[in-house]
Amino acid sequence: MRAVDIIMKKRSGLGLSQEEIEFFIRGYVEGSIPDYQASALLMAVYFKGMEPPETAFLTKAMLDSGETMDLTGLAGPFVDKHSTGGVGDKISLPLAPIVAACGAMVPMMSGRALGHTGGTLDKLESIPGYRTDLDLEAFRQGLEAEGFAMTGQSARVVPADKKLYALRDVTATVESVPLITASILSKKVAEGADSLVFDVKCGPGAFMKTLTEARALANSLVRTGGSMGKNIVALITDMTEPLGRCVGNFFEIEETLDCLEGKGPADVTDLTLRLGAWMLVSAGLAADPGEGETLCRKALSSGAALDLFYKNVSRQGGDLKRLAELRGKHRSAHSVQLKAPSSGYIESIDAYGIGLAGVLLGVGRNTTDDQVQPDVGFIFHCKKGDAVRQGTLVADIFGKDQACLGPALDMALKALKIAEKPPRESPLVLEELSNS
Ligand code: URA
Repeated sequence: MRAVDIIMKKRSGLGLSQEEIEFFIRGYVEGSIPDYQASALLMAVYFKGMEPPETAFLTKAMLDSGETMDLTGLAGPFVDKHSTGGVGDKISLPLAPIVAACGAMVPMMSGRALGHTGGTLDKLESIPGYRTDLDLEAFRQGLEAEGFAMTGQSARVVPADKKLYALRDVTATVESVPLITASILSKKVAEGADSLVFDVKCGPGAFMKTLTEARALANSLVRTGGSMGKNIVALITDMTEPLGRCVGNFFEIEETLDCLEGKGPADVTDLTLRLGAWMLVSAGLAADPGEGETLCRKALSSGAALDLFYKNVSRQGGDLKRLAELRGKHRSAHSVQLKAPSSGYIESIDAYGIGLAGVLLGVGRNTTDDQVQPDVGFIFHCKKGDAVRQGTLVADIFGKDQACLGPALDMALKALKIAEKPPRESPLVLEELSNS
């Protein structure tokens, strides 16, 4: 078999066999197939696409390039959630303990902030002492004790994705549904979950800007995951506005605690409960999302989920005393206020603009080497639909230094739209798809 023939075949729009895809991925990871040939194949896939069986072969080949998490001996059922990335999206943090409190095991492998989107690991690490580099034994212990554990992805899991993603990033081939499907799914299957719920974000603050694009990815995830024997649910959810009132690493930990104490913002709580409900359905712990939501609400109101969250923080090295001391106070000394430039109603706060401003402030990173800060970001006092007068405080903005505040404030002002009339209400969950 020759790499050039495989590239030519895909360039002509023909389907690749399992053997061809395995040959290519193995060769690329081992180094016998160079970057320039892998780039050519990626571009051919970008333009010609892949049929569902090819996407499944690619996912499997990528999965087989590395280690998988061994969860044998643990009770399960194992279920996880993955979001395609948004602004203010801290849902994983309240969700994992809620679902664990309902009897599932949640083996959560999360990522870091990149570009305008935030990362769960950076948020957790804003708790003094919290460690996200668990070895398998520590991860298993967390799952056994609290029903969930939070870790980063080891370099040994899906090494093919690390190489391919870096190449896609510099060859303009990220935005391809089969490539995104294989990238996301191979990593999620490697962590050992039997059931997966995807939160496919849609809108200006998301990877998938339109409903058509989001639907294509959701369908592909559901179908490909199903062909690998997994129960898959995909929710397409709106990412036009930032989720919740906080965008920033420690600020989002505070909002997580609010949510677990039953006083979180409505959008964060509602989405958490809906995703949790589907996780319980896909894990066989609830008959339908209605029953799942009732169970999740009980886990919140009883305090069981909050208790598990604190236990996890403590197990993973987090300092509970410092967490309590810092709550409401962990704020950078460099701050500025975003005030309404005119009177009316907040029509929208553009998530993408806020996400980009967050990178300037030190919430996120442009490149994987950038440092993030715990005590920076946005705390919104007004949201879409709120009536404001000229000068009303819309958000407090905290930055890593004085110099970043001006440009970040300009971006935030551009992201804020005020209209004379209140905006129409729009749903947060746009569509729900399942393969069972
Ligand atoms: N997130 C991933 O993990 N992979 C992609 O290809 C896109 C988003």
